[in-house]
Amino acid sequence: MTAEPEQMNPLMNTYPPQPVTFVRGEGTYLYDDSGRRYLDFLSGLAVTSLGHSHPAVAAAIAEQARTLLHVSNLYGTLPQREVAATLDRLIGADAGGKVFFCNSGAEANEAAIKLARKWGGGAHGRWVVVSAYGSFHGRTLATLHATGQPQKHEAFQPLPEGFRHVPWDDLASLEAAMDPTVAAVLLEPVQGEGGVNPATPEYFRGVRRLCDERGVLLIVDEIQTGFGRTGRWFGFQHFGVQPDVVTMAKALGNGMPIGACWALDDVARAFGPGDHATTFGGQPLATAAARATLAVMEAEDVPARAATAGARLAKAVDELPGVAAVRGMGLLLAAELSAPGTAREVAACCLDAGLVLNAVTDSALRFAPPLLVSDEEIDEGVALLAAVLDT
Ligand code: PLP
Repeated sequence: MTAEPEQMNPLMNTYPPQPVTFVRGEGTYLYDDSGRRYLDFLSGLAVTSLGHSHPAVAAAIAEQARTLLHVSNLYGTLPQREVAATLDRLIGADAGGKVFFCNSGAEANEAAIKLARKWGGGAHGRWVVVSAYGSFHGRTLATLHATGQPQKHEAFQPLPEGFRHVPWDDLASLEAAMDPTVAAVLLEPVQGEGGVNPATPEYFRGVRRLCDERGVLLIVDEIQTGFGRTGRWFGFQHFGVQPDVVTMAKALGNGMPIGACWALDDVARAFGPGDHATTFGGQPLATAAARATLAVMEAEDVPARAATAGARLAKAVDELPGVAAVRGMGLLLAAELSAPGTAREVAACCLDAGLVLNAVTDSALRFAPPLLVSDEEIDEGVALLAAVLDT
C-alpha cells in the first residue's frame, strides 16, 4: 500500500485518500500493485455482480470493440434493442414498457425525474418528486435534491425546485405530503447508501395504493438493488407491486458504465424526440457488455444464488462476537457492530487483512459480494472479519 503526498495526486479531492491501487481482478479476488490478493466483498459498490473479468463479459466487450464501438443514437444498433427487450421481460409488467439508456445511476434517475415532469404537465400540472429521508439517488443537482440527506445539499444551494422528503417507511407522512403538485414518488426497495435499510412490504404496497388513488407515478430506484442482488431480479418484486418507472445501472454492465430508465408504455409515451438524449447512452460497447452480463445472470439464476449465499453470509456474520445485528436482503447486507463508531476502523483493518468491504454508516459494515460467490469464499471472508473483530 502506498501513501502519496497530496500535491502529487492529479485527481480532484472528491474522494478520501485511496489506500490501495488495484491492478487486476479475477472472480471474487482483486490483486494490488504489489501482487497481494484480496477477497472482494464490495464488488465495486454492487457493480461486478458476476465477479471480476468474467470471461463471457470480457469476450463480448473485446468482440464488440473490434466490430462497432459507437455511432450515436441518430442510428440504430443491435445490442441496445436486445438489452431493452430483456430488461422489459425481467421487470415483468403485464402492460410492457420501454427503455431509455444512459451511462450511470444518477442519469437514470435524472431521466425518470424529467419523464415524471413531462408526464405530469410540468409547472402547469404536477411536477414535485417525493422521496425519503436517508435515500440516495445520485450527485447531479436534481438527483442530489432527490437524495434525502440534507447535509449533502447545503454546499450546493440553490438546488433545482420540485423535491420533497418524507420519513422512510412511514406511510402516513407520505400521504400527508402528496398534494396535487406531486408527480411521482421515488423510492429504493432497500436504502443502500443510507445504511442498507429494507422497506417493509406493507409500506411498498401502501405507497402503490396511494399513488394509484392520487394518479401519481411510482418510480423505484433499483440502481443498487437490481439484477438479483436482493434475491429477486428486482427488489420491488419482493413486495408484489408493479412500479410505473424503474431505474437501473451498477450491475447491468458488470463494470461497463451503463444506466437505464424503464417506464410503462403509457408513461414512456410522454417523451417525444428531442425531450431527452445522451451521446453515449446505450452505445454498442456498453450494451454488448450488458447483453452478455444479463445472459450469464439468467443462465446462472443469480437471484436464487444471491438468496442462498446471502442467507449463509448473514447467519455466519450474525454469529460473530462484536456484531450486534445483520440486516438487508439477499447479498446486500449490513452488520451493525456492537461498538458504536468503529465501522470505518474495522473496514480499514479488514482491507489490511485482505478483505474488501466498506463502512456504510459509522457503526455498520456493508457486504455486497459477487452473486457467484462460493460457500468457501463466504467462509474465508467471515474468518477474515472474525479475526479483525477479535483484535
Ligand atoms: N441510486 C442508488 C440507489 C445508488 O445506490 C446510487 C449509487 O450508489 C445512485 C443512485 C447513483 O448512481 P451513480 O453513482 O452511478 O450515478
